[in-house]
Amino acid sequence: MKFNVLTLFPEMFEPIKESILKRAQENNLIEINLINIRDFSKNKHKKVDDYPYGGGAGMLIRPDVVYDAYQSIENKEKAKVIYLSPQGKMLTQNKVKQLSKEQNLVLLCGHYEGIDQRVLDEIVDEEISIGDYVLTGGELPAMVLIDSISRFIEGVINTESVSEESFSNGLLEYPQYTRPEVFLNKKVPEVLLSGHHSNIEKWRKEQSIEITRNKRPELLENNEFNKKGE
Ligand code: SAM
Repeated sequence: MKFNVLTLFPEMFEPIKESILKRAQENNLIEINLINIRDFSKNKHKKVDDYPYGGGAGMLIRPDVVYDAYQSIENKEKAKVIYLSPQGKMLTQNKVKQLSKEQNLVLLCGHYEGIDQRVLDEIVDEEISIGDYVLTGGELPAMVLIDSISRFIEGVINTESVSEESFSNGLLEYPQYTRPEVFLNKKVPEVLLSGHHSNIEKWRKEQSIEITRNKRPELLENNEFNKKGE
C-alpha cells in the first residue's frame, strides 16, 4: 500500500517512522510518500495561504498550490483521494478495513482555516473525520489513518491480533493478563491458567459482551450476540 500525503508539515510525520510502522516500511509492506505542498508555491516567499473572500477569521490554503502538488503524484489516477476534514464521515474500524484493500491512497491534510473549496471539488473522492472536534491540521488524522489501515495489511501485524481485537466482531476486547501470575494480591483469572481452550474462549466471549455492555452499550444494539439474545 502506498500512502501519498499532501501536507505543509512533513516533519510532523516522525511518529509513524517508529516501531511496527517502521518495520512495515523497511519490509516494503507500506510506503509513505510525503509531499510538501509548500514546494509547489510559485511565490518567492513560498507563501501558500491567503485571506478568505468575503472576510472571516484565519487563512485558507490556495487551490493552485494544492492542485500542483497533487499533479506531481505518480499514478494519481489510480489513487483514492481522501481529504482529512472535521466535516467528513467519521472513521470506523469497518472503514479502515475497507480502505486497507486499496493499493494507493492520497491523503490531503488541511491547515489554518482549511483549503479553497474549488480544489477539493476537483480532486477529492472522500472526506474523513477522526471525530467531532476540530484540530489545527490534518496531519494527526492522516497518521491515524495510516496507522489504522496498516494494521490490516498482511504481514504488518499478527492476523489473529486484528481479528480478535475491539470492534472486529462488533464487540470490545476481553481483558488480558501476562506475568506475574499474582500482582498486588490480584490473581490472573483461574480459567486462563487452565489450558482448557473452549472454556477460555467461552470466558473471553462473555467478558467481551459484559465489557461492551458496560463501556459502549450502543455497540450491542446491532450486534449478532444481542440479536440471538445471548
Ligand atoms: N474551518 C474548518 C471547519 O470549520 O470545518 C476547520 C479547519 S481545521 C482548523 C484545519 C484542518 O485540520 C482541516 O482542513 C482538516 O484537514 C484538519 N482537521 C481538523 N479537525 C479534523 C478532524 N476532526 N478530522 C479530520 N481532519 C481534521
